[in-house]
Amino acid sequence: MSDPVEHLYIHIPFCAAKCDYCAFYSEPAEAAKIERFLAALERELERAAPRLAPRTVFIGGGTPSILTTAQFERLLTRLESQISNLKSQITEWTVEMNPATVSPEKARLLRASGVNRISMGVQALDDALLERLGRVHTVAMAHKSLDVLREAGFTNINLDFIFAIPGQTLAQWDETLRRAVALAPQHLSTYELTYEDDTPLLRDLQEGRVALADEAPALAMYQRMQSAAAEAGFRQYEISNFARPGLECRHNLNYWRGGDYIGLGPSACGYADGRRYKNVANTEVYCERIERGKSPVDYDERLTPRARAGELVAFALRMNEGITATAFQAHTGFRLDQLWPDELRTLVEQEMVEWDGLRLRLTPRGRLLADSVAERFIVLEKAEVRSHHRAEAERPTKTI
Ligand code: SF4
Repeated sequence: MSDPVEHLYIHIPFCAAKCDYCAFYSEPAEAAKIERFLAALERELERAAPRLAPRTVFIGGGTPSILTTAQFERLLTRLESQISNLKSQITEWTVEMNPATVSPEKARLLRASGVNRISMGVQALDDALLERLGRVHTVAMAHKSLDVLREAGFTNINLDFIFAIPGQTLAQWDETLRRAVALAPQHLSTYELTYEDDTPLLRDLQEGRVALADEAPALAMYQRMQSAAAEAGFRQYEISNFARPGLECRHNLNYWRGGDYIGLGPSACGYADGRRYKNVANTEVYCERIERGKSPVDYDERLTPRARAGELVAFALRMNEGITATAFQAHTGFRLDQLWPDELRTLVEQEMVEWDGLRLRLTPRGRLLADSVAERFIVLEKAEVRSHHRAEAERPTKTI
């Protein structure tokens, strides 16, 4: 019998409208589609439930808060009935919300059902920039939603922000940071805007309607974020994440530490028993498969031990804590300094990583170039890939 899996991700694949920069898989929110999806999700949950003993649950998307209060009630009730002792064993339960779809009833229901953390996509505190991103909400909605969530009893709230938006100046970003801190969240996540394939934003860039922000201001914005967060008492614990001490996102820490998790819903990923898998990124196909009693998994794969070890280091380097030599060996059976002696020596010489034989982590300089450091550890080997239904189109999903 395999060990119970302690981390559960549920993907709600609907959004009110597509943001201009977004390449994640999502669908327009239509009532009939949502009802059909919820029925399929319940069946997927039923099958997964015997493996689950969740300490963290993360309901992400898409836009989970697009669900009505009644739809949330249905989902939360099913979770509680399918997973024994859910409320007593859970330590962190996050729901992602868009400021346009927060209501007092929803907020009260979530809080009363055991949800204790909200992650809200504020993205900017300037209506012109929100419009440029194609967001459906305004700054006023973000303020109002925050009040509603606090009135419902939420005391652990993350706010997401994007920087290097076309036209955004360093002074505007400083003002955003000042106002973000004044909103008194417990956690902040900030991401540099990226231009993904097949997005309106990339087309605007290619056709000259927006200009790419220079690298130097984007770097300066990131560094301003680091200092503003530190001055306000937040601890940076991951490249893009800052938390009040003790309020780091435990669910995401599990991803970065290479732990097992189960993902449910269209396009959700999971990792358990040495295999990682991804569900089909198409809600209609997902529902059809489940209704016919089939698996919604699109493909699963088992990495070779070396490839898995490389992936573990690449993820761990995202965290300020990095990884200890003992944790690495316990996880993989390898010694870090035997697998990558040359890489470690070079990266130390380049002042990208700190490595004293006991712990490996990025230096502040390495954190600015984290992706290229991580790439040095990636080993492109897969022991076995099982493609279940390769026919459907696949889009990126955001689970990590
Ligand atoms: S960025 Fe978020 S809210 Fe916007 S379309 Fe993508 S998943 Fe939906």
